[in-house]
Amino acid sequence: MLDRSVLVLNKSWIPIAITTVKRSFSLVFQDHALIVHPDTYEMHDFETWLLDNSAVSDHATPDRDGWLRTANLLIRIPEVIVLGRYNGVPRRELVFSRRNIYRRDNFECQYCGTRPGLKHLSIDHVVPVSKNGQTTWENCVVACIRCNTRKGNRTPDQAQMPLRCRPGKPTWNDGVGQGESVPTSWARFVAADTRA
Ligand SMILES: [Zn+2]
Repeated sequence: MLDRSVLVLNKSWIPIAITTVKRSFSLVFQDHALIVHPDTYEMHDFETWLLDNSAVSDHATPDRDGWLRTANLLIRIPEVIVLGRYNGVPRRELVFSRRNIYRRDNFECQYCGTRPGLKHLSIDHVVPVSKNGQTTWENCVVACIRCNTRKGNRTPDQAQMPLRCRPGKPTWNDGVGQGESVPTSWARFVAADTRA
């Protein structure tokens, strides 16, 4: 739950990053950010958030999706936060991670174009590691397990399996909201940002 994604807006409500629930709570605790209510878009500091978005819990209280359990409370986790002071637009780069490769490639096998679901996808090194292929944006793509197995230890040329797109470094919001479920509260920010 603490690793779920939270959209970060700057002071002007422009989306600038995606972070985790854990980091969001820490920013809110330190008064660097406010939680944006996913339905009303009202802004809350930690105290006012707890007023409306927490419930007393004990061992018998069932878990709720989207709520975090502490020793004696269930707290609704934030989906969007807004930074109090920061109004810049940072360099919009995504950190290199498996998850972000999936996002960039839209959860689509870059060899056959299918979208068989996360369980049947893997990350393929275009130039295999055994042939000194690097683990970089430019050399890692999403491949379904079938294609990855078929390609084996070969380059796309050797395997006669051309890539559908040339992989590269994405901007931070490439693929956000595609192929995975993101909170609906993100839609207005991410869509608005894509149009801009
Ligand atoms: Zn495939």
